[in-house]
Amino acid sequence: MFERYEPDWNALHRQIRTGPCFICQIVARNPDYPAHIVYEDEIAIAFLDKYPRLYGWTLVAPREHREQVTGDFTVEEYLTLQRVVHRVTEAVRQEVGAERMYLLSLGSNQGNSHVHWHVVPLPPGVPYKEQQLAAFRKGILRMP
Ligand SMILES: [Zn+2]
Repeated sequence: MFERYEPDWNALHRQIRTGPCFICQIVARNPDYPAHIVYEDEIAIAFLDKYPRLYGWTLVAPREHREQVTGDFTVEEYLTLQRVVHRVTEAVRQEVGAERMYLLSLGSNQGNSHVHWHVVPLPPGVPYKEQQLAAFRKGILRMP
């Protein structure tokens, strides 16, 4: 359906490691960091991944810059964020007709430190051997 490509990963990682936090820039609406925002409220923001390997790949993040996925939140703050993750995940699942949803918190303290969750829809009909981590190894979808 969509063509796949590989971006210049070295340039991208250099930008991520030396530039400002991209999530904070999206929250601040910096025009140099355009994003397709699908949800936001006073504590969280959700936007389409700029480099999706599966259709509908979405990121959910707290608006505030925090780095430890559990350690930088009280239990109540964490559970409030998880309500947003649930809401966004259900919306994406229903919108794209996913067979299964994958949820991951990735990132790096060395250059992609703002806590965020990857909300990843697995399309129906993907063979078993191409699911789970194998689904993440394909090229980036060139989205219009
Ligand atoms: Zn940030």
